[in-house]
Amino acid sequence: MTENNILNEPFSSTMSRRFRIARNIHTQKTPFQLVEVVETSDYGITLFLDRRFQTSEKDEFFYHESLVHPAMMTHPNPERVLIIGGGDGGTLEESLKYPSVQSATMVELDPEVVDIAKVHLRSICGDAFDDPRTRLIIGDGRKFVEETDETFDVIILDLTDPLEPSKYVYTKEFYTLCRDRLRPGGILALHNDSPFFYPEAFNVISKTLDSVFPYRRQYLTYIVGYMLDFAFSICSREDVLDVSEEVLRERLRDRNIGHLYYYHPAMHPRASALPGYVTRILETP
Ligand code: SAM
Repeated sequence: MTENNILNEPFSSTMSRRFRIARNIHTQKTPFQLVEVVETSDYGITLFLDRRFQTSEKDEFFYHESLVHPAMMTHPNPERVLIIGGGDGGTLEESLKYPSVQSATMVELDPEVVDIAKVHLRSICGDAFDDPRTRLIIGDGRKFVEETDETFDVIILDLTDPLEPSKYVYTKEFYTLCRDRLRPGGILALHNDSPFFYPEAFNVISKTLDSVFPYRRQYLTYIVGYMLDFAFSICSREDVLDVSEEVLRERLRDRNIGHLYYYHPAMHPRASALPGYVTRILETP
């Protein structure tokens, strides 16, 4: 489906990116989105949804480690994890590295993304979908949190950007539903857009989260595949988000989660760690 082996990605309101494709691996139009798995020399095997870069085997650690480990390391004993979205399985794989996890429920809208990941994105999802602790539910994440009476230690939103099909999961109502599904001391983790390229979306999502959660820590990661600064948040109803670097180092050692490529206790989100341009955006009403 790529023209002359060039894939054009709409990037921002003024730019698009052109990827030279070394190999087309799989293309499928599902009821929800256009799924493309391709190989490029910079990123290796790469997943695009609706022509937007999602993740790649070479850079996935920037995104998945930034999304998963700050929340999982902050929690003293994460046993029950809920992932909404995350069809490529990278978030599931990172979450299952924690021996304390007894169940990881993943609610993904599009079954085709999961099926494609199991075949073509093994370097990202590993054996996560076969892990006995994994419970995969195909359906709308919003409907799931509306209807379930289960509660979780960590809820991770690994969703596409606030366009179709995920625009109903960037709302105050949805964040409130997630908050109410957290066990005491529970943590919600999510990404909340690029402050440089999408300052308004970033600001609105940040303020919406602050209206639901009294405690939130925000941090930025430069995601090589996205070529932008990406904001992430961890949020809680309780004052549990500040853990000393010493405790984090002990947890990293005791939990024996193996080698990580991005997350490190010294980079763990701190209250005052945001760059000035981000703070200025957040000061805008
Ligand atoms: N790393 C990614 C990015 O670029 O932000 C997110 C990747 S993951 C593949 C996003 C997944 O969210 C997709 O597979 C999509 O089908 C799923 N999704 C979107 N809306 C959803 C919803 N309402 N409920 C559950 N899953 C949803």
